[in-house]
Amino acid sequence: AAVPGAGVVSMGMKKEPPKPAVVTRNVLMWFRTDLRLKDNHALHAASVRSKVGNRNLIALFIVSEKEWEQHDEAPIKIDFWMRNLAKLKESLDKLAIPLVIKRAETPESVTSIVEGVVKDMDISHVFWNAELMVDERRRDRRVKRALLALPNTVVEECDDQCVIPPKEIATKTGNPYSVFTPFRNTWSTMVETNPHFLELSDEPTANPDEAKKLYADIFASSAPNSHPHNLDAELMEELYPAGEETAHLRLKDFLAEKAKQYHETRDFPYENGCSSLSPYLSAGVLSTRQCIAAARAANNNKIMVGNDGLRTWIKELIWREFYRNILVHFPRVCMNKPFQPITEHIRWTADQRRFQMWSQGKTGYPIVDAGMRQLNTIGYMHNRVRMIVACFLVKDLFVNWQKGEKYFMNNLIDGDLASNNGGWQWCASTGTDAQPYFRIFNPVLQSQRFDPNGDYIRKWVPELKHLNEKQIHDPYHTLSAKDFAKLGYSKPIVDHADSKKKFQDEFKRIIAEH
Ligand code: FAD
Repeated sequence: AAVPGAGVVSMGMKKEPPKPAVVTRNVLMWFRTDLRLKDNHALHAASVRSKVGNRNLIALFIVSEKEWEQHDEAPIKIDFWMRNLAKLKESLDKLAIPLVIKRAETPESVTSIVEGVVKDMDISHVFWNAELMVDERRRDRRVKRALLALPNTVVEECDDQCVIPPKEIATKTGNPYSVFTPFRNTWSTMVETNPHFLELSDEPTANPDEAKKLYADIFASSAPNSHPHNLDAELMEELYPAGEETAHLRLKDFLAEKAKQYHETRDFPYENGCSSLSPYLSAGVLSTRQCIAAARAANNNKIMVGNDGLRTWIKELIWREFYRNILVHFPRVCMNKPFQPITEHIRWTADQRRFQMWSQGKTGYPIVDAGMRQLNTIGYMHNRVRMIVACFLVKDLFVNWQKGEKYFMNNLIDGDLASNNGGWQWCASTGTDAQPYFRIFNPVLQSQRFDPNGDYIRKWVPELKHLNEKQIHDPYHTLSAKDFAKLGYSKPIVDHADSKKKFQDEFKRIIAEH
């Protein structure tokens, strides 16, 4: 039978884990997408627990490639995880906390792996941070059932992914929010009035010295520090160096330099006034709490008012929180269903070539091609351009948004199911408070507005690098046929005005018929 206190606990900062009568065995922290020591709720709680009986804290990470493949995780993102895992191991080593790394051949084998570690390493308490996706929640329920069937084993699942745990935020009628602005208002009021939401938890304390001898073979083993992918590995290391320290330095630099102008610069992809922190947030090397707490501190402890740049940046992080809430309360969104059921009736094109041209960056629309080539080269795309390419795939090419969503997940270093799904459904007009169906980005006008000199296009579409700022956004219509042919660049794959009308007509049809 499980000891008192077994089961799920919500780990708010103020709550300490329930104390067992006697702690006689070790404590396990199972890391997943939370590869950090600082402000990690489950790790902190595990560390506190291990000190109760002066026992050892042991860490676990399971390399589960099949599971990641099934979830469309990009190889470049897995590589980033592995590089961060190696850094995490270095930090844990310094604290004499052994990091056990296991490989799961199948997603189902995860349960027996955790069970095996618990038995072999004499564990009484297992801690992890709750994940929000449906499959991961199912996996965790399976593992928990198996562990609770072991004698005197306690599982403690902590809320860590969101600043306010999704179950704690609701409308006045007790329903989950499905529109961003009221969510943001309530979220901000709750955070302003309950400062504990933004309190950061301490790093774990070191194990007793003898742990080094006891687990010498684990300390001597090395963590995988890369994963095969098709991009330039050196460039990726340079663009996204691994480690908590780097992430914090980036956050600090961003807040000191770019953040105050973020509201003015964030939409211009060449300047990139954004933080580039998404890969770190996605791998859990940094928490949303840490980002918002730091930005709030830089903004005189304000969230909704104050410096325009800082509050706009905080607002973007609240979007991240919002999409996590949507995922938890409306899990259909990550099960191949649109948030707006009516949009299931849209008759998408079956033309595979359109999707291929889009994914290769050969649509003949320079801003779209630049975005897709940026993604294919560095596993990242600027937010404004994500919106443009997504809107183009769905509303100009008439391709089901789910194909684009999957392509992004397969290729993004910051792929995040909740934000990616939310972003795609927003652009496709199938989501929560989505862009209305009749508002369709004109890719040429977007390009002229947000890349006025064409520098972003020149960087990623070298065929166009000699064109001036008048020609570069729409070379097919601004150059003579002869000059255009010399570029070796694609002719526009569709006519924007025709496509726009077709999409709007299809939306009107589904509204009339359903
Ligand atoms: P900053 O502008 O510095 O913003 C700071 C942080 O706020 C980001 O790192 C991110 O965590 C969060 N954020 C910013 N904008 C959004 C947003 N619109 N929705 C949710 N969170 C946001 N973001 C991902 O992290 N992973 C994805 O897979 C992803 N897919 C997207 C797909 C589409 C079609 C669209 C339109 C957006 C997507 N986003 C995704 C949101 C956004 O594009 C990225 O978070 C942002 O570009 C990351 O760059 P940054 O860290 O410099 O962002």
